[in-house]
Amino acid sequence: MNRRQTSIRRSPSHTPDPLGKLEERKRYMYLIASLVAFPSIYYVWWVYRDTQPFNRYAYPFLMAEALLWIGALLWRRIPLVWIERMVLFTIGLFFFAKYLYYLYFERVLIWSEIEAITGVIFIVFILGYIILDHRLAFALTLIYTALTFVTGLVRFQARDTEVLPDFIRLQTRQAVIALLTFILAKVKDDLRLAQKQTDYWEKQANIDHLTQLPNRRAMSALIQERIDAKMPFAILLIDIDDFKCFNDTYGHDIGDVLISRVAFTLKINLRMTDSAARWGGEEFLVLVNETSAEQAFSLAERLRNEVQKIDFDENLISISIGGTMFKFDDDLPKLLKRADQTLYAAKQQGRNCVCWQ
Ligand code: GH3
Ligand code: MG
Ligand code: MG
Repeated sequence: MNRRQTSIRRSPSHTPDPLGKLEERKRYMYLIASLVAFPSIYYVWWVYRDTQPFNRYAYPFLMAEALLWIGALLWRRIPLVWIERMVLFTIGLFFFAKYLYYLYFERVLIWSEIEAITGVIFIVFILGYIILDHRLAFALTLIYTALTFVTGLVRFQARDTEVLPDFIRLQTRQAVIALLTFILAKVKDDLRLAQKQTDYWEKQANIDHLTQLPNRRAMSALIQERIDAKMPFAILLIDIDDFKCFNDTYGHDIGDVLISRVAFTLKINLRMTDSAARWGGEEFLVLVNETSAEQAFSLAERLRNEVQKIDFDENLISISIGGTMFKFDDDLPKLLKRADQTLYAAKQQGRNCVCWQ
């Protein structure tokens, strides 16, 4: 008896990393945004540096920040979330400082600047909701709105009282936008959560828990897809030999362990394009894509040999395989019936063999 351990050649399941991809895309977009923003900040500074003292002294800080940001985006070691928070914090602080400047340090009131800052702050709010959790973003937008409201109220009650109604209107609009953005962000987060749950349950409905292979339901759908595509493929119906006897000797739990090990052996010996499923009990089904009968037959032989290498208390573990090619007039029941009959023939021939039809 062959007592060599089954070797892991390669794993057919490669896990995609959607979050990593998303982060990479975000980094790229931020980089483009900052490369566009930098010259425009410079331009504003250049045009207004002599007429507006705030711009003259504050914009160089903003430019330094943008350069830092670009450097951090290019130097991939700094986590994106830190960069995002840093930018949000500085931009928020920048506009609040600008707002205070136009409230308290300009001799004459330039109302259009107050309006312009409020306009830009909406964008900062939205950025906050993109970067932060919606509750934290909401708290920050409320704090910001409260600060601008109190500082503005103090200013306009003391001087330029005639703009007080306009100021209240502007602040109300800011508060309403903060609230609406919160509702939108919450709806978006709830939807994303619901989507995650749906994905989870859909995955659960298609996976066999013991072996983590696709179950019969998922595999049937996959075969149906192949039938519809009318591409050449083969199916191998696989059954563990004398499993009842194994169960009776070692118990059901150890029987489960053997099922998992056979599943694992099948999985690691397939090409990326092929797939194995737990068909039921101690039966498996392998879908061999774009293949000829000869290739699929030799794969079946290989699987049968690999299963014999499973080391289990000196027992010979074996499988019987019924294989068949898809024919163009097949539907799913017809194809499965032929595979089933072929598997039956393999059992009749004494087990531990591959039958082909
Ligand atoms: P054959 O070579 O003809 O396939 O013989 P067999 O003993 O493997 O086939 P049979 O259909 O007589 O028995 C299959 C056994 O598999 C019976 C059942 O208790 C057992 N079985 C089915 N599902 C599971 C399972 O999920 N876990 C375990 N441990 N046993 C299972
Ligand atoms: Mg069986
Ligand atoms: Mg069996």
